Amino acid sequence: MRLDKYICKSSEYSLSQACDLIESQRVLVNGELATKASLQVHKTNQVTLDDLVLQPRPFRYYLLNKPAGMICSNVDENYPSVLKLLDVERVDELHIAGRLDADTTGLVLVTDDGHWSFNLTSPKNGCEKTYQVGLSRDLCKNAAKRFQEGLMLQGETKLTLPAKLVVLGPRKVELTLTEGRFHQVKRMFAAIGNRVQTLHRQQIGNLQCDVGERASRSLSSSEVRALANQ
Ligand code: URA
Repeated sequence: MRLDKYICKSSEYSLSQACDLIESQRVLVNGELATKASLQVHKTNQVTLDDLVLQPRPFRYYLLNKPAGMICSNVDENYPSVLKLLDVERVDELHIAGRLDADTTGLVLVTDDGHWSFNLTSPKNGCEKTYQVGLSRDLCKNAAKRFQEGLMLQGETKLTLPAKLVVLGPRKVELTLTEGRFHQVKRMFAAIGNRVQTLHRQQIGNLQCDVGERASRSLSSSEVRALANQ
């Protein structure tokens, strides 16, 4: 973590105040004067401010059941941000790991741990995400096979990774993906001549969307670890 961020996460100072503290030569890293806000510091380093050892607050991890009509962004744009649903301190330090569209509902993960969310959302990680999908037309017969084989989405050069389709009804399916391309579910159904009418994310890894709409809860440390080791 950058030194300026480390100071923010260990105190009530803002990022610009942290930079001022560094410039005023009040910060030492392992006993040496720190001069750069961009200096990378690790858990094993000792950071002091005026002889006071700084200890970052533990990372925070939440699960949230997103309603339609809210966006997965830190700033309100055309819709309010889902972060408004979290009644916690320093919401501006949190970000969303794996966004959903404004009209999509369901499981969203929120954290201030950038490494954890980066690993979780990296396509290399292969973490499964399961969506319940309502369609505007009856499903074509070879949909499961085409999703399993991979599809070429419009404007892309690589096939989608194998995806699992479970048919729950002629217009109701469950789709499990291991990647998260832009509007992926909607574009996959568009590629087979259908259209997504409703979309709900029910599961990420082993984690179920187990709170009511608009509600949230903290993740346990074993849930955090399990998602990191997907
Ligand atoms: N795929 C989509 O098309 N939209 C979402 O919100 C999530 C996955």
